[in-house]
Order: sequence, then C-alpha cells, then structure tokens
Amino acid sequence: MSSATAHVAVVTGANKGIGFEIARQLGRRGLLVYLGARNEGRGRAAEQALRADGLDVRFLHLDVTDDTSVTLAAKRLGDEVGRLHVLVNNAGIGGPVLPADQTSAEDVRQVYDTNVFGVVTVTNALLPLLRRAESARIVNISSAVGSLSAAAANLDPTGVHPPGEFPVMLAYSTSKAALNAVTLTYANHLRGTGILVNAASPGFVATDINGHHGLLTTEQGAHIPVLLATLDENGPTGIFLGEDGTPAGQLLPW
Ligand code: NAP
Repeated sequence: MSSATAHVAVVTGANKGIGFEIARQLGRRGLLVYLGARNEGRGRAAEQALRADGLDVRFLHLDVTDDTSVTLAAKRLGDEVGRLHVLVNNAGIGGPVLPADQTSAEDVRQVYDTNVFGVVTVTNALLPLLRRAESARIVNISSAVGSLSAAAANLDPTGVHPPGEFPVMLAYSTSKAALNAVTLTYANHLRGTGILVNAASPGFVATDINGHHGLLTTEQGAHIPVLLATLDENGPTGIFLGEDGTPAGQLLPW
C-alpha cells in the first residue's frame, strides 16, 4: 500500500518494550508506522528490525519532552503523509519507589514532564493531522496504579503487592492518574469528531521500566493498546481498559 492510501500510526517511545511491540503489531495489520524514539541510534535499530520483518516502519525522531523535536516531527508527518489515523502515547518513565515524604517535588516534576506534559505536547501537535483522517484513535498508555478508585480503597490493582499495600510511587502513580484525567478531557473535547480517545493498562509487563520483573510478555502488554488503536468507528471513547487475558480486556475504574 502506498503512503497516500495507508492508514498511518505514530507510536511514541517505540524503540523498545511495549511500544516496540505495539509498532510491530500495528505494522502487521498493514498500517504505516512512524516509530517514535528520542535517540536516533536506538530508533534506527528498531526501525531496521521491523523492516526486516517486511513491515512499513519509519523512524521518527521524537523526544516528547522537547518542544522543538515534537514540532519538527509534526511538520515531517504533515509533509510526508498529511494525516494520521492512530496516535499511541506510549513513551513513559518510572520514578523513585520511596515513601511519599522521601520523594522530592523535582522527582515528581521529571516524571510528569514525560508521562503527562509530553502527552499533551504530542497530542496537541498531532491533532490537526488526526482531524484530517476520516476517523482516528488516540491511545494513552496508562497503568492500573493510576486508578484513583484503587488508591482510595488502598488496594494494589495489579495484584502484585499484598492486600493493603498499594504501591508507593508518588511520582509514577499520580502521573498516570493525571494522564487518565487528561485522557477523559480529550475524549470529551473530541466527542462527535470521529476521534476516539482511551487509556490502556497493559498489565505488569517485563520491560526495562521495572527491571524485567513484570509477569507478562510485551506481546501480551501490547494487546489492549492495539485493540484500542484499531477500534471501529462505533467503538467507545473515554474508557480505561486493562489487560486481563481475555480478548476484550477488562474495564478499569478511574
Ligand atoms: P520501557 O521498555 O522502559 O520503554 C519506555 C520507552 O519510552 C522507551 O522507548 C524510552 O526511550 C521511551 N521514552 C522515555 N522517555 C522518553 C521521551 N522523553 N521521549 C520519547 N521517548 C521516551 O518501558 P515499557 O514498560 O515498555 O513502558 C511503555 C509504557 O507502558 C510507559 O508509558 C509505561 O509507563 C507503561 N506501562 C508499563 C507497564 C509495565 O509493566 N511495563 C505497566 C503499566 C504501564 P529510551 O530507550 O530512549 O529510554
């Protein structure tokens, strides 16, 4: 399929981990995938690996915390394809796993820069292209630990920690809670435009972000993000969907 007719996706932070696998699975479904990476060497290596599998993948230099990088990426996409059907805001970082009172405001700020403000920057920059597609999907990669309902009940929504021991990750957990609020705000703003906006919880996946302690493979972790990225036009908007081993996934409480 030529770039003039292909459906086009951008996946941020796609040089490794869950994002790499999302890029692979979208490529296998015939999308032209722009593989976002902040580091050129890592991005090109990932691009080559997926191209070697015959997939239509292009490295896109994109540091979600760098306004210039995001602006340049949006301009390149505008010049090369002129529209965008899928945006997966996957790039994310962890933060200190420490009691809240030992986590500095600067630690929190750094995690929010990537996990929250980066998503807003990229989404706003790419929205004009998403609006040009006949219908489009935005998928924000959140986490079950961002659920305020779980936090209010002092429950670990991942089931990894013993009852009553909700993981203490002030920066990371609250960044994903903020991302959930951001997701709902865009979903409501874009209702009726054909752009569906949802949050995905990939499950506890073995990647660099958790020192590979996760229990799921990246293939399993990519399942819900890809499902939300490929919803049909009657699909939901403003939902928080989590991996539970079933084909349809599980609705999570905000
Ligand atoms: P990962 O293997 O560490 O991958 C994170 C990706 O984000 C890397 O490609 C990284 O690039 C990229 N990234 C970080 N900061 C960036 C920036 N400023 N600009 C562009 N890219 C940036 O971790 P992962 O588990 O696949 O995480 C992917 C997403 O899933 C994250 O949003 C994470 O919070 C979420 N998630 C993961 C789990 C899990 O159990 N693994 C659970 C729930 C949610 P570099 O290689 O350059 O660092």
